[in-house]
Amino acid sequence: MQESDQTIIAIDGYSSCGKSTFARLIARELNYVYIDSGAMYRAVALFCLENGILADNRVDLPRLQQALPGINIRFSTADGIQETFLNGINIEEKIRGIGVSSVVSSISQIGDVRTKMVSMQRKIGEHGRVVMDGRDIGTVVFPNAILKIFMTADPDVRAKRRYDELIQKGIQVNLDEIAENIRMRDREDENRPVSPLRKAPDALVLDNSYMTIAEQMDWFLKKWGTLHEKNTR
Ligand code: C5P
Repeated sequence: MQESDQTIIAIDGYSSCGKSTFARLIARELNYVYIDSGAMYRAVALFCLENGILADNRVDLPRLQQALPGINIRFSTADGIQETFLNGINIEEKIRGIGVSSVVSSISQIGDVRTKMVSMQRKIGEHGRVVMDGRDIGTVVFPNAILKIFMTADPDVRAKRRYDELIQKGIQVNLDEIAENIRMRDREDENRPVSPLRKAPDALVLDNSYMTIAEQMDWFLKKWGTLHEKNTR
């Protein structure tokens, strides 16, 4: 274990479980950096859509492999709000829509894409003090993270939350379409051959179906406190 692992918090779990809200609050509480690894896969999916590498749900793998070295993803944070940049252009809004959501799982199952994303994520975390959320953070990216949390929630509760969030942003969506997209992404993320979504054996499970965000933070602070007591004993 490296010293930086002592200050890495890995949060994995199903789609639309509220991982990013929770991770962002933890990062703010601890003064750590929050990294949304899903945004990186979304950025690659957007690149593929915009460059004709992905059409009718078919990926042109040789072209993607050729393009990968030129895909530059960067984050910038202002006032605690993280924005994602693809080759210098702010794509934050574009990557959250249903267009990218419905194709991102077919991009995230490609081994070469994962290799590049994992290496970028490890580089970001090399000095520690990072809260990263995703699907394989505790299992693959940072297997020695000091704290691993696996989040889950009832799929209908997740669909309703996601629906409310998008409607609030003024994005017109259909609840059934959202629920189907969540089910599809769960299925694809759990069943892909490369780095499938799994709970790490040493991860703590947090089912937040009926928890407020304040209750989730209380849960976290208790676990974090216990962990530190143990380490200083
Ligand atoms: O977290 P978010 O829902 O934005 O992630 C979008 C997609 O990116 C997921 O459905 C999953 O296919 C992929 N992903 C992944 N590994 C991660 C983070 C996200 O495969 N670490």
